[in-house]
Amino acid sequence: MKMASCRLCGGQAAYSIEHAKMMLCQDCFIKYYEKKIYNTIMKHGMLRGARNVAVAVSGGKDSMALLTAMSKLVPEKFPNIKLVAIHINLGIEGYSEKCQEIVKRVCEGLGVEYVIHDLLSREGYRILDLKSTPLGRRICGACGTVKRYLMNRLAYEIGADRLATGHNLDDIVELLFEFYLKGSVEDLVRVRPVSWSDNPKLVTKIKPLIELTERENTYYAMAQGIPLLDAACPLAEGSRMLRRKKLIGLIEREIPGFKHMFYKSHVKRILPRLEKTVPEPSIMECEKCGMPSLSNTCSYCKLVSRLAAQSAENST
Ligand SMILES: [Zn+2]
Ligand SMILES: [Zn+2]
Repeated sequence: MKMASCRLCGGQAAYSIEHAKMMLCQDCFIKYYEKKIYNTIMKHGMLRGARNVAVAVSGGKDSMALLTAMSKLVPEKFPNIKLVAIHINLGIEGYSEKCQEIVKRVCEGLGVEYVIHDLLSREGYRILDLKSTPLGRRICGACGTVKRYLMNRLAYEIGADRLATGHNLDDIVELLFEFYLKGSVEDLVRVRPVSWSDNPKLVTKIKPLIELTERENTYYAMAQGIPLLDAACPLAEGSRMLRRKKLIGLIEREIPGFKHMFYKSHVKRILPRLEKTVPEPSIMECEKCGMPSLSNTCSYCKLVSRLAAQSAENST
């Protein structure tokens, strides 16, 4: 059998970039991947004027790949920027310990400062406790609210002016798919590579991996020797999100390049028009926690107050 050769150097190919119909060796793949992140950052001006960048890390391949690539890119291309990793231990038995272990190991290996926020000891509950509340029935949604809120608050508390997340192309296409299906115009307009904010309590969010697929992130994690979790989050099993991703994978097989096309049409054609017509929501301060909110009480405080009400009921 003839070995496939690397498109760029002619060496032995190790990875196949399907949507680009390109085979690359390990070294060329690493360069290609890091270049792609750098180009995405530059295209959207993600780090323009930034001093402190917080990277939200879960311990999964995407965010660990992002952190690893950023820890190489930042000192080289943006020497005035400081990088800090933030991790939330969600208290999911048999899973969160492993995530935290990977975060520690990778951060220490890269020499990146990190903050670990333990949900149980710092906030007084674990993710699974939310399941008994009305909003927690769709646990991935509730977990998303917790992570979005806490990541922003933690980034704000350490003085970060950017919060980078590991959302990849597959995540974004899955979101777009759901929002288009439902016609949620207000949600669609928020799906973008950068969410700029001039409110100091709302840290500007950037998604440097937005044009990289889940598979490319896995390749990079493997090529860099990043320890991979042996299982996905047990709570997400059978979720709609995973079923939609599977379906999108099937479409991609029939229409190669579908994901890239869907994302690019959204960002280039649809988003600029939506931004003109959909009014920016007015942001107020949550009366409980003082953080930015769309209503008097933020969705995080609503979620947590349900939890408190539940446990008060249980103890009487
Ligand atoms: Zn090569
Ligand atoms: Zn609040």
